[in-house]
Amino acid sequence: MFHYEDLVKFFQYEVRGISPRGLFNCGNSCYANAVLQCLMCTKPLMIHLLLRLHSKDCCSKNWCLMCELEQYASTLRESGGPVSPSRILSNLRNIGCRLGGGSQEDAHEFLRHLVMSMQAACLDGLGGEKQVEQSLQETTLIQQMFGGRLKSKVKCLRCHHESERYENIMDLTLEIHGWVESLQDALTQFTAPEDLDGDNMYKCGRCCAYVKARKQLSVHEVPNILTVVLKRFQESMARLTNVSLFLICWTWFLL
Ligand SMILES: [Zn+2]
Ligand SMILES: [Zn+2]
Repeated sequence: MFHYEDLVKFFQYEVRGISPRGLFNCGNSCYANAVLQCLMCTKPLMIHLLLRLHSKDCCSKNWCLMCELEQYASTLRESGGPVSPSRILSNLRNIGCRLGGGSQEDAHEFLRHLVMSMQAACLDGLGGEKQVEQSLQETTLIQQMFGGRLKSKVKCLRCHHESERYENIMDLTLEIHGWVESLQDALTQFTAPEDLDGDNMYKCGRCCAYVKARKQLSVHEVPNILTVVLKRFQESMARLTNVSLFLICWTWFLL
């Protein structure tokens, strides 16, 4: 659907005439503003929006997130003060997103909803997600930018049988426990082997029993643009409480 060569070209484009603009806080919308600012700094997406490559073929009769983002991106070309994300926020509620009702929300949830909605908008022209084969769904601009795969490997410590599972991801959530000083540290913690033992034993298909095992996660297919969500948790009263804001950083990989 979207050619990989075009994505490479978009990475190499020079964008002129865009200066950073602030966003109005539309009532506790700082979580959404942070995500929108990050998205607008995602070069291939920004170029796609500025070239209006979506709307020239869009046949949606209803409100469309990609068309709205094209409008939004073009306002960033105009000089001026802060802009308001209210049209995006109010319409997102109309398409089933429960975020944005004026209360404090989760930036990660908002990001996921935006990415899912952008992917759905890319598939609308082909009759929607249910009508499009999985292999074709993986060739949209959104999937080619953010899509990747995680591998989870579990080794039974009794019979040494290994099983592998793969999971498609659009971002990587790193839960930070203890002392982590850098993204590298967080990735090392994420990919460190974990022993499954005690209440958390593994049911080995070959042993037909719950056994001790070792589990390890790794990034099997690295997205072209890796979105890392850092979540810091604090243990209190045997309950894990999320105490930090979400940090979303875009890591650009050499193509
Ligand atoms: Zn559209
Ligand atoms: Zn086993």
